[in-house]
Amino acid sequence: MKQPEPPHPAQSIAIDGPSASGKSSLARAVAQSLGWVHADTGSLYRAVAYALDRDNLLNAEEHELCNHVQTRTIQYAIHNGFTHVLLDGEDVTDRLRQEEIGRSASRISQIPCVREKLFRVQREIGCQGKVVMDGRDIGTVILPEATLKIFLVASPEVRADRRYLELLQKGSGRPRAEILADLAERDERDRNRPLAPLRQAPDALILDNSKMTIEESVQWILKKLPH
Ligand code: C5P
Repeated sequence: MKQPEPPHPAQSIAIDGPSASGKSSLARAVAQSLGWVHADTGSLYRAVAYALDRDNLLNAEEHELCNHVQTRTIQYAIHNGFTHVLLDGEDVTDRLRQEEIGRSASRISQIPCVREKLFRVQREIGCQGKVVMDGRDIGTVILPEATLKIFLVASPEVRADRRYLELLQKGSGRPRAEILADLAERDERDRNRPLAPLRQAPDALILDNSKMTIEESVQWILKKLPH
């Protein structure tokens, strides 16, 4: 007797890589060209850092910090294909891009209760399908069953240049050398933390976009997506 077809797994693309490798811009552009949702997972860690900073708890003892994190509600809301982050129901997306929040997010993302808290939010959106998620552990921990996994890399110099230009556009003239050192520090922390370190999944494809435009990278990814 013919067996029923198994349900088609939800389609998703996981893009992991270090800071300033261009993950979010690329994930956003890929999602736009497919008409899918883009889920930026770094913004969830930034929202936790923002909440802790607002309550002066960034340097608190781990148990106190975790008590605080457990009582917060962190959710995604989708507007026009982009994810916004709601902290206790309030849309805080526009407040999360400062460098300082990124640094704090990198630090608190090593704490187990923070990763546990955010796991379910990410799983939920990933399992809905038609989603491009970018982060550090999407292909390894959050969506190991993703249809396509990309590990995005770029040379440290190119990444520092990109961050430098991004900051310049925001009106900050942070020296390039400082940015380079900061990226190296973040890479070190993200790669060597015991929990969900930044790592290429065994079945991820490496894309080095150092010399590619976003459009070229989008086309590269679309060609790899199984139909
Ligand atoms: O990507 P973004 O710079 O917004 O992420 C902020 C910080 O959150 C990163 O430096 C990283 O430590 C952490 N992060 C993470 N896992 C993710 C996404 C971000 O640990 N999936």
